[in-house]
Amino acid sequence: MSEEECIFCRIIRGELPSWKIIENDTAIGILDTNPSSEGHCLIIPKRHVRYWHDLSDSEVASLFKTAKVVAQKIKEKYKSNFICVFIRGGSVKHTHVVLFPSNEGDKLSGFPQSVIGKTDIDFAEVRDKLEIRDNS
Ligand SMILES: [Zn+2]
Repeated sequence: MSEEECIFCRIIRGELPSWKIIENDTAIGILDTNPSSEGHCLIIPKRHVRYWHDLSDSEVASLFKTAKVVAQKIKEKYKSNFICVFIRGGSVKHTHVVLFPSNEGDKLSGFPQSVIGKTDIDFAEVRDKLEIRDNS
């Protein structure tokens, strides 16, 4: 999907309406128009990047700082225990942080096992694959 067609880029350019709650130099925050709960928000970097791990370090820092500001507001207004974060770039190919109020006992409190289930793994093998020894 090109930047021209991208629904989030169009929202950022003001070509499509949105329920905007925050905007700064690097990101905007909007209400999800297909919400699972009140307080379900999206924080979207202004640059068209599909996956969050392809953002620059400074973009990631700014995006998460914006997400934190909004999360604190959601928590204050909806009195939830905490605010969950999901990040994908699947249905809309422009990465976005999904913020969700969550409380003990809801399906999110045990996510992903409560939704996806569990799997058996070889812990040593997986650790060997993922271990980062030189983290300087
Ligand atoms: Zn985009």
